[in-house]
Amino acid sequence: MSRAMIIGAGGVAGVVINKCCQNSEVFTEIMIASRTKAKCDAFRDKLQPTTKTVISTAQVDADNVEELTALIKDYKPEIVINVALPYQDLHIMDACLAAGVNYLDTANYEPEDTAKFEYSWQWAYRERFEKAGLTAILGCGFDPGVTGVFSAYAMKHEFDEINYIDILDCNGGDHGYPFATNFNPEINIREVSAKGSYIEDGKWVETEPMEIKRVYNFKGVGEKDMYLLHHEELESLALNIKGIKRIRFFMTFGQSYLTHLKCLEDVGMTSIKPIMFEGKEIVPLQFLKAVLPDPASLGPRTVGKTNIGCIFIGKKDGKEKHYYLYNICDHQECYKEVGSQAISYTTGVPAMIGAMMVLTGQWKKAGVYNVEEMDPDPFMDALNKWGLPWEEDFDPVLVD
Ligand code: NDP
Repeated sequence: MSRAMIIGAGGVAGVVINKCCQNSEVFTEIMIASRTKAKCDAFRDKLQPTTKTVISTAQVDADNVEELTALIKDYKPEIVINVALPYQDLHIMDACLAAGVNYLDTANYEPEDTAKFEYSWQWAYRERFEKAGLTAILGCGFDPGVTGVFSAYAMKHEFDEINYIDILDCNGGDHGYPFATNFNPEINIREVSAKGSYIEDGKWVETEPMEIKRVYNFKGVGEKDMYLLHHEELESLALNIKGIKRIRFFMTFGQSYLTHLKCLEDVGMTSIKPIMFEGKEIVPLQFLKAVLPDPASLGPRTVGKTNIGCIFIGKKDGKEKHYYLYNICDHQECYKEVGSQAISYTTGVPAMIGAMMVLTGQWKKAGVYNVEEMDPDPFMDALNKWGLPWEEDFDPVLVD
């Protein structure tokens, strides 16, 4: 029925590719296009013998808009699924506009030389996508992504207004390394070493990195320390969900991870400022990425579960109501199914579902949208069908 182009061939892309191949009724043809063609070919060689989806591959530098536009025009997909890095977002959106193709990503644009992420750059494309009659879906992984769909679902079915949202991202997985990141190390470390922030009464409140700590007992995982972080969906949810007074994001970290990170920061290894090394300019964080384990290699060794979801406090029929929507995902189950750990899985499955929503016309509106602006119901059904079933709790323990 449809043709899709997947850009990137890393951990998350691997899951998107596997899931598109499982869903060959919708994704009849896919092209995997990335910087390193050998990685694209390896996915094709592994999956083509057992899927009806016809897979092609290509080498592309997604930062070269002209080259990418030519590739898209030649292949003629109906959607481009961007699972490269946030630095590529605007270039891929430009190429989609030039080639007349729909767009979807899982992380908002971030300039390579500034650790700052916000939606303004991508929201600035609204009018151009509207005029072109094309759909762009932003942030369609798990968080952001499913957290936005959960919020839209809670708003539609459970509340008249939502006043407080706490997004809790718990990774109870253990990969056995003293220090490794579960997705791209550069992006991950930029995210967690930045200042924390949350929105209260329409204003951002800034905290020092890891300043706010809470302990929470997660179903399927157990008790974990979690820390308040800045996260991109706070910005869009505060605008799109009616009645928001406060919205926060917490992520769990183990002590070993934090001790290593602190030490790496203290010696300057997490810096994104270029330095000279043996006559060559290098970025310390990029060098660190090169010596850390590749997140795509963590699959076979990671055991345990993730639990990611949202606790909502709001009003229904004049009364205060509490509601928790979450998903529990098992690292080893993911590995058995698609050869990846649960962080890539929980990001890649929603990206495939979001693309399916656009291709089947269920999320087809001209413009640039965050997921919570779309109908959550078909997406929620698809989460249950495609490997990320959700659970509800009408009396959750709240975060103080
Ligand atoms: P990886 O580093 O594993 O993969 C990134 C891929 O993009 C690599 O294959 C890389 O090529 C390719 N790439 C990088 N630059 C270019 C370029 N200029 N042109 C073409 N290809 C390029 O990252 P992950 O798979 O871990 O993460 C992918 C995305 O998912 C990131 O944007 C990340 O922020 C996002 N994410 C979102 C989450 C969510 O819940 N919303 C959670 C986790 C991740 P090469 O193989 O040559 O290095």
